[in-house]
Amino acid sequence: MKTSMTKLKSQSVYESEKRCLDTFANNSDEEPPGKRSISDDPEEPPSRHRMLSVLEKKAPSNVATTRYKLFGDVPDSLWNDWKWQFRNRITRIEQLTKFIHLSVEEQAQLKLVTMRYPLSVTPYYLSLINPDDPDDPIRKQAIPSPLEMTMGTVGAEDPLGEREDTVVPGLVHRYPDRVLMVLTDICPMFCRHCTRKREWRNGGWVRTWAEVEAMLEYIRRRNTIRDVIISGGDPLTLSTRHLERVISEIRKVKHVEIIRIGTRFPVVLPQRIDSELCSMLSKYGPIWLNTHFNHVREITPQAAEACDRLLRSGVPVNNQTVLLRGVNDSVEAQTALCHGLLRIKVRPYYLFQCDEVQGTEHLRTPVEVGIQIIEGMRGHTSGLAVPTFVIDLPQGGGKVPLQPNYVISQTETELVLRNYEGRTFHYRNPGQPARSSRSAETLCPAASATTNPG
Ligand code: SF4
Repeated sequence: MKTSMTKLKSQSVYESEKRCLDTFANNSDEEPPGKRSISDDPEEPPSRHRMLSVLEKKAPSNVATTRYKLFGDVPDSLWNDWKWQFRNRITRIEQLTKFIHLSVEEQAQLKLVTMRYPLSVTPYYLSLINPDDPDDPIRKQAIPSPLEMTMGTVGAEDPLGEREDTVVPGLVHRYPDRVLMVLTDICPMFCRHCTRKREWRNGGWVRTWAEVEAMLEYIRRRNTIRDVIISGGDPLTLSTRHLERVISEIRKVKHVEIIRIGTRFPVVLPQRIDSELCSMLSKYGPIWLNTHFNHVREITPQAAEACDRLLRSGVPVNNQTVLLRGVNDSVEAQTALCHGLLRIKVRPYYLFQCDEVQGTEHLRTPVEVGIQIIEGMRGHTSGLAVPTFVIDLPQGGGKVPLQPNYVISQTETELVLRNYEGRTFHYRNPGQPARSSRSAETLCPAASATTNPG
């Protein structure tokens, strides 16, 4: 395995990714941020031990063994170094064949696919794949399929119409109160179902500071913007110092209340969520982080530790799953995933219908599948474990939640409802309040004295 590691090291990365990595190199001898991270505490909190022992029991045994089978010669010191993982991503089919069996014909097909839709997978994520199973749900997310080309004309390059809502380069402003800052198109892994697959061919870019400053100026001048979402690509590919520069500038804008970060690093390269990053984030809250687990096997002890570090730094973590054929398109798969997320204190937030993106049709499911999954979860498990199933509408129409229909009939005075078991219930509809000159306080004197949430 030494040979393969050496070869991996010698692979060149995209030129602009070198630029990105240069920012890492420049940071290597930086002083850590002043504020001490909670995760620096030498005494590990007992709840963390408890959580990890639960996960270790649940984690499939092949996860650890696959790592040692594929990357047995990589010492922990390198394996746990996110920059090593990033530099040693597998980006060529020739490299991939060292880890996953591909026939000569498959190799030729996949080379053609990667000319249009490149390959990039971290050694960590590759080690989660069962190399002997062509239908492995982790593999389907990371390894190209010939179907990306044969069904490649279905859908659109930019189905959400993000280009139309771009107000300055890199800044999407669709809703009055929030904006999306796209800082880079570089990701540690190219997920085969990605909505921004169209960007992969651009060879990788990072916004210059002048471009970032133009975005900041737009935000400063509009006091309706209370929520800034930093996304990509994956913004955590940037150095912590570079990210801090952007985040600290956003934080200076009085009308911006929250900052959100969209990243798949906790899933595909959890080593990135280190104490330096968490310590930096903890200084600029409220910061929310949305991540993207799609399958319970992605919830490894390393991923759990990454989420735990974020939570202990005051960064709540929500999950946005994409519904994918052959990956998580069953009640059982979604329930296992959402229960796993709750065990690591990550909230299952959205279940997205896979967008109509060119090159992803083979992974898309009928909308009914998503509704049936919610039907199979709602009432059968805690509401906390049930995400909201949404379609992100084409041409910038926004998100629409979909759920099973529980209303059998409805009049002004009564609703007939069915519950999760299919039993029917009659519910009196209070109707509109009668018009009265009396104030609400007269009708309900206690209302002015207290609010009773119960
Ligand atoms: S991490 Fe996100 S932006 Fe990057 S390839 Fe995956 S889904 Fe697309």
